[in-house]
Amino acid sequence: MNILVLNTGSSSLKFQIIKTDLEMIEQGTDEMLCKGLVERIGSQALISFQVVNKPQFKTALPLKDHRAALKYALDWILNPETQIPGVESLTDINAIGHRTVHGGEQFTNSVRIDEAVIKSIEDNIDLAPLHNPANLKGIYAAKEVFGNQVPQAAIFDTAFHSTMPEVSFLYGIPYQLYRRFKIRKYGFHGTSHRYIGYRYRKLEGLRREEVNIISLHLGNGASACAIKKGKSVDTSMGMTPLEGLMMGTRCGDLDPSVIEFIAHKENSTLEEVMQLLNKRSGLLGISGLTHDMRDLEAEWNEYRDRRAKLALDMFGNRIKKYVGAYYATMGGADAICFTAGIGENSPTIRKIACEGLNVLGVEIDDKLNEETIGGKESIISTPTSKVKVYVIPTNEELIIARDTCRIVLNAPLP
Ligand code: AMP
Repeated sequence: MNILVLNTGSSSLKFQIIKTDLEMIEQGTDEMLCKGLVERIGSQALISFQVVNKPQFKTALPLKDHRAALKYALDWILNPETQIPGVESLTDINAIGHRTVHGGEQFTNSVRIDEAVIKSIEDNIDLAPLHNPANLKGIYAAKEVFGNQVPQAAIFDTAFHSTMPEVSFLYGIPYQLYRRFKIRKYGFHGTSHRYIGYRYRKLEGLRREEVNIISLHLGNGASACAIKKGKSVDTSMGMTPLEGLMMGTRCGDLDPSVIEFIAHKENSTLEEVMQLLNKRSGLLGISGLTHDMRDLEAEWNEYRDRRAKLALDMFGNRIKKYVGAYYATMGGADAICFTAGIGENSPTIRKIACEGLNVLGVEIDDKLNEETIGGKESIISTPTSKVKVYVIPTNEELIIARDTCRIVLNAPLP
C-alpha cells in the first residue's frame, strides 16, 4: 500500500508517501518514496519536494489555503516527470494518515476517520486551539481532494500517553476540575516517543514489555517521556505543550503565580501573558537572541555570549532534572534516548544533560557523542555505562503510515 502521511500546521503542510504492508512492517522494510513541505500557506508559499535519492524541487508561489497546497503537492506527485515508483495516478494512493495533535480522553489509539471522529476532533479544539484546527484543515482538504472512497486515519500525539496512571496525569488542583473540564496532563510527541520505544526495542532485540527507557524528544518543542514496560507512564508536557522542559520559545515549568505577577506588573491581559510564555520565552527569552539551538551554540562558540550559554545550560539542566525524576519514579531505567532536531544534532546539549548523571550509572563516550550528528543512529555511552545512552533519529511518519495501513486492513493496532 502507498500511504500518504499528512502533517498540517496552521500555515504549513508536510507530507510523505510511505510504501508499507503487514509483511513490510514485520520485516521493517517499509519505504519512504517521497517527501515535501509547503510553508507560508495563505501568502507566497515556499515549496520543497523531493523524491528519495533525487534532487530537491524548490519553488515559491501563492497558495491560498491547505486545499490548494494539497492539490499542488498531488499535481507534483502525479506528474509523469516526477517518477515516483508505483505512484502514477490518484488511485495509487491507498490511504491517508493524519498527524493529529489532541485526541483528548476519547482517543487512546489511532482511528479511522469518519464524521463522528471529525466531530470529536472538533470538540477537542478547546484543549488544542492552535493545533487541532490546523490538523482539521488537512482532513477537510484530503476529503475534498480524494473524496470518501480513500480511507483516512487519525494518529494522535496524545494517544501513546493514554496509559499514564492518574498519579501522573492529574494536577494538584480540585478533582472536580478534572471531572468537569477534563483538566489534566495529556502529553504530546506521543508518536515520536512511541517510535523511540519501538526502535530501541529493535536495536536491543527486546520484547515490548522489556522496554524501560527515558525518551527525550528535543526539538523546537521538547518533551521527556518515561516508558516503563513499553508504555508511557509519565511525560513532561501537560494539558498543553507549555509544561515541562524549556523549549525554543516556550517557558516550560513555571510557578503559576508568575502569570498573575507579570499581568499585574506589565498591565497585560492573560492572553498577552500566555503569548509571552508560549512565543517569547525559553531559549529565545533567556538569550534575547534566538530560539534556534544551532544559532545559539554559534553565539556561544564564536562570541562567548554569556546569555547564550545560560540558555544552553538551562535547557540542558531541565533535561537532567526530568531524567533524574523519571529514573526515580520508574525505579530505574535501562537507557536514555535522545531524538529530534536538538537531540539528534547537538552533542553540546547531550553532554550538559548527562553531566553528573554518573551517580545513576550514566557514562557518555565523548568521542561517540561528538561524532553522532546529522541523523546518525548510535549508542553514545561507554561499554561500562550502567544506563545506555542512545541517539535515535525519530520517524513519526513511519508510525503514522503503519497505523493507517493496519486500520485499513483491519489488523490489530499495537
Ligand atoms: P525540530 O523541531 O525537531 O525540527 O528541531 C529544531 C531544533 O533543532 C532547532 O533548535 C535547531 O536549531 C536544532 N538543530 C538542528 N540542527 C542542529 C545542529 N546541527 N546543532 C544544534 N542544533 C540543531
